Amino acid sequence: MVMQMVPPEPPLVLIVEDEPAQTELLRYNFDKTGFRTITATDGEEGVLLARERRPDLIVLDWMLPELSGIEVCRQLKRDAEVRQIPIMMLTARGEETDKVRGLDTGADDYVVKPYSVNELLARARALLRRANPASMGETLVHGDLVLDQVQHKVIRNGRPVKLGPTEFRLLTVLMERPGRVWSRGQLLDRVWGQDMEIDYRVDVHVGRLRKALRQEGQSDPIRTVRAAGYSLDYEG
Ligand code: CA
Repeated sequence: MVMQMVPPEPPLVLIVEDEPAQTELLRYNFDKTGFRTITATDGEEGVLLARERRPDLIVLDWMLPELSGIEVCRQLKRDAEVRQIPIMMLTARGEETDKVRGLDTGADDYVVKPYSVNELLARARALLRRANPASMGETLVHGDLVLDQVQHKVIRNGRPVKLGPTEFRLLTVLMERPGRVWSRGQLLDRVWGQDMEIDYRVDVHVGRLRKALRQEGQSDPIRTVRAAGYSLDYEG
């Protein structure tokens, strides 16, 4: 009998927000970085969907019609069935953020509007990792780059990127530790698994990887550090 590996489903995010433009911005960015999304436009629908669909994360606007975000949060955190789902509360500047933080709503994190989408996504991933480490284990995400280790797929800005096996391993190593500078020797060791004197191969494959990642004219996510090596280091 052949054991089949079932790829994990991408994490499901419930967005509770009454402003369509905000909802679209969030939905677009979560979708393109490897999440699934469902949306609710008021607090009551948010509570209902949270109970029905059991999302992995809830992004909750604080100013909502009918039931406020704070009330939604309180209701969900009182419900043993759903209280473990992390909640990220969105507040607008001037909505007395300090007061919101001070209120004991049980929200797991707060993000102030207008927010940086990249920061919001990074904090969402941190919340998910904390709540359920396995949910994020197989997929590496950085900026607009998503690498699925199970299906061997890379997505940039919502579009598939074709990579050879060496470039895929190289990108995996870089994405495991964004910002870290890897020397050519360290990359040889991690990607090829051998001690080699010649390091021109690293440059060749980094060049191919860069070309593949930039095929749609996007920015170069890899930084060359003079005399040191390479790093995945950019604001996506
Ligand atoms: Ca609102």
